[in-house]
Formats: sequence, C-alpha cells, structure tokens
Amino acid sequence: MRGAHFARKLLAHERAETFARPPKCGRCHGTEIEIRRRRNGNWFWRCYAVKCKTTSSGRSNAWTLDIRLRGGL
Ligand SMILES: [Zn+2]
Repeated sequence: MRGAHFARKLLAHERAETFARPPKCGRCHGTEIEIRRRRNGNWFWRCYAVKCKTTSSGRSNAWTLDIRLRGGL
C-alpha cells in the first residue's frame, strides 16, 4: 500500500516536471506551446503560433506532439 502511494507521488512529481518544460515546436521551432488533453486522457503539446498553425489555404493545422510519461500514464 505504501509502495503504491509512493509510486503515485513520484509519478505526479514527474508529470509536473514534464509539464513545466514544454518542447519547442517541431515545425516553427517556436515556444508558443500549450498543453492539451485528448478525450482518451492522453496529454499532448500543441503549437498555437498563428503563422505555424495556419496553412497557405487558411486552414488550421496545428503541430502537436504526444507526451509520453514514464509509467504509462
Ligand atoms: Zn509551431
């Protein structure tokens, strides 16, 4: 029981560390990154720079990156 509790705390800490350090956008290399959560519960980064997410045809196509956390959560 204590072990499970400890693991949960560790995971929460690691998640906080990961979320505190957003990556640069893989497309525009900008730092206008926000965190989002999918309906299935997975977290991902998303670039919201207007010049990056808007295609030449004017459609929105934001760069995203799935966040992988150790422990599978
Ligand atoms: Zn971008």
